[in-house]
Amino acid sequence: MQETQKRDIKSMTLSQLEAELQAAGEKNFRAKQLYQWMHVKLARGFEEMTNLSKEFREKCGEVYDYTSLATVQVQESAIDGTRKYLFRLSDGNLVESVWMKYHHGNSVCISSQVGCRMGCRFCASTLDGLERNLLPSEMLDQIYAIQLDTGERVSNVVVMGTGEPLDNYENLLVFIRLLTDENGLHISQRNVTVSTCGLVPEIRRLAEEKLQITLALSLHAATDEKRRALMPIADRYSIQELMEACRYYFECTGRRITFEYSLVGGVNDTDQDAEKLSALAGPLNCHVNLIPVNPIKERDFVQSEASRIRTFQNNLEKNKIHVTIRREMGRDIDGACGQLRRRTMHAMEAENSLQDCGGSKTC
Ligand code: SAH
Repeated sequence: MQETQKRDIKSMTLSQLEAELQAAGEKNFRAKQLYQWMHVKLARGFEEMTNLSKEFREKCGEVYDYTSLATVQVQESAIDGTRKYLFRLSDGNLVESVWMKYHHGNSVCISSQVGCRMGCRFCASTLDGLERNLLPSEMLDQIYAIQLDTGERVSNVVVMGTGEPLDNYENLLVFIRLLTDENGLHISQRNVTVSTCGLVPEIRRLAEEKLQITLALSLHAATDEKRRALMPIADRYSIQELMEACRYYFECTGRRITFEYSLVGGVNDTDQDAEKLSALAGPLNCHVNLIPVNPIKERDFVQSEASRIRTFQNNLEKNKIHVTIRREMGRDIDGACGQLRRRTMHAMEAENSLQDCGGSKTC
């Protein structure tokens, strides 16, 4: 007989949980108690919910699945205290998250998928393709585990780790609603940033949700031709379509968009590139965030010279574009986005195959 799958309780909104428990004949306040244990006290399992009867906790355990993460590795930067976490999900998959300390608060960068299918040429997270989407609870768990580990409140969340968040749209939306819910961790929507490689229909759909989150668009090139050389998604949507979607997002939400632009030496960092980028960002009143590309060993992209980066920034500023250069946090532990997961995954595979053949060096 096939076991019916248990439902994921940590991905339920408070009103869903209230309806569920009411239908099951439970007292009204039970839902709120459970919700607080999950999303405020950050319990790692039903067994920690000590003010609920053992009988009720056991019943919950029979009906619901309670996701949790195991910490596989934590790397801490000696330079700025940035921490990179590698977590194992209940099905054995690995995800990466990063904790960064700023003057204005603590920021966590989370993954939205296991792997990615967008294929950006400079990105390590996409090299092995997409394994699966993360559940809303599994996105929350990354933040909860880090808050528990550091003992410090997380004030900002950026969805900029592995995965394309708008390729996991429904789960992302539930995640944002739970994260910003006043009955949960209650992080302000304005302190949540979602970064996308540019899925036009989903940007428009997100605009209509009228959230106050920040949308960051990974532009990386100012002409379709150059963008296509870096990002396969550019074959599907033109820059013009993207700019129209960005304008729509601003009209619907009043929120200014951020353009992310990874500078790749000799590829997208000329004076002409800066002029073209200014022409795109100016009318939209966008903020531009320049990122010196983080070279990955699988590709031969190089960072632009420091002087070129400064000139590029000056060119934008001359055109009255609001521009920042991304501070490179945790330079000493870094490795580009997705590399820690990839390295560990491949090391584990190598170990397994050695074990499979009795450790023989000839295989
Ligand atoms: N899929 C989303 C979010 C994840 S990537 C997106 O594309 O926006 C987060 C940001 O890091 C994106 O701007 C991405 O293009 C950039 N990025 C990925 N690998 C990089 C690298 N090796 N060097 C510099 N930026 C990189």
